[in-house]
Amino acid sequence: MRKDIAVPQGELESARLAAERINNNLDGRKPTYYIETYGCQMNEHDSEKIAGILERCGYVPAADKAAANIIFFNTCCVRDHAEKKVFGNIGALKKVKDENPSLIIGVCGCMMQQKEVADKLFKRFPYLDMVFGTNELHMLPNLLEKVLNGERIELVRQMDGEIAEGLPVKRIDSVSQFVTIMYGCNNFCSYCIVPYVRGRERSRSVESIVNEVKDLAANGVKEITLLGQNVNSYYSEDDNADFPALLRAVCKVDGIERVRFMTSHPKDLSDGLIAAMAEEEKVCPHIHLPVQSGSDRILKLMNRHYDCERYFTVVDKLKAAVPGVELTTDIIVGFPGETEEDFEATLDMVEKIGYSAAYTFKYSPRTGTKAATMDEQISEEVKKERLKRLNDTVAKGLKAGSEKYIGQEGEVLVEGCDHRGETMAYGKLPCFKMVYFKGDESMIGSLRCVRITGITKNSLVGELI
Ligand code: SF4
Repeated sequence: MRKDIAVPQGELESARLAAERINNNLDGRKPTYYIETYGCQMNEHDSEKIAGILERCGYVPAADKAAANIIFFNTCCVRDHAEKKVFGNIGALKKVKDENPSLIIGVCGCMMQQKEVADKLFKRFPYLDMVFGTNELHMLPNLLEKVLNGERIELVRQMDGEIAEGLPVKRIDSVSQFVTIMYGCNNFCSYCIVPYVRGRERSRSVESIVNEVKDLAANGVKEITLLGQNVNSYYSEDDNADFPALLRAVCKVDGIERVRFMTSHPKDLSDGLIAAMAEEEKVCPHIHLPVQSGSDRILKLMNRHYDCERYFTVVDKLKAAVPGVELTTDIIVGFPGETEEDFEATLDMVEKIGYSAAYTFKYSPRTGTKAATMDEQISEEVKKERLKRLNDTVAKGLKAGSEKYIGQEGEVLVEGCDHRGETMAYGKLPCFKMVYFKGDESMIGSLRCVRITGITKNSLVGELI
């Protein structure tokens, strides 16, 4: 059962007063914060919430780490060597903290949801002021106040069904924004640590999501991406709404021109979602559909709950219902027990599907997951060699896939400008292809029609029509 929780306004004010009292020796300057973020979009968005809370407590962004009064590391436990990197970063701050004892150092994020890692970090670095997990974000004002009053804090809890609503958010200025619709994951893919650190699935209500999207639209945002570990299993009990229903509700928000979502699990991609993608004009013709492997045997060992036939079936349905739909994916090479034959099946799948981008990884064991203890771990050398072959295959398909756009026209939502050499505006077509064309800053945030004239390694080149 979902339980919505919020930051008590009194705690925000109390933390602001504590920060003001402690930082009153800054010669009238406001105290500053710096956040270093690792990992996925979910973490990026959590950092926007940390920034939002800190700004409500009177802090302003620091130009860099050296200029900050408070430094946060928002960690991720999914990637390789992440732990080593975080420990190295905290270690490197010892001298800075010795010279400036009032500096506050905090570590948060999903790596800290692993209690043993949080304990180790907290013990090893006595000058670290606070450690908390992803489930404690709404408690940050209270934790900050305690730290400002001289306490050291370590707080990591498992959360069941709770969702923190209404946290202040400091969004990076952009026409395109992320909106988290659910937290956690129930799937337990055998290589993945996420369900252990982010807990079981819990979905926000349709009303709170739609209200957030309305606020964004009122602030000039034109494109939103609905985020979750597996958006296809979104379900709000209060509204009896599944993901296609949510998607349709979000499309009704005036001012929002494009709606995207990620990530989709192939086992849960329903006909209802394909119909919503086909019928709702604002839903972009792009889907991120991680395949992970093209071998049924490996998919079973990965506990993915689909086989290649199911994957091809949903892709065929998508392509038939949504003309021009582009697919992107995630693939792991060198999963324990992966034979040359299994790997070639993956290459074959990549060639057949024709992805417009693939995020490819060498398998690396995560302590606490089933795959980490499997026999037949693959050598680093073999993984490296397979990754290279896979990337070559993806690149070949990408080139062919991009070339078909030459001569076509499409609408680009301009995200920014690249000033290296001639100023080029850039933004995405609805199908997620990035396009660069001659332009300037005044175009940012607008929709522009372009004709595609060429391709680069990962993008398209165009001209304004
Ligand atoms: S679906 Fe699998 S890979 Fe994705 S977060 Fe859940 S357990 Fe991890």
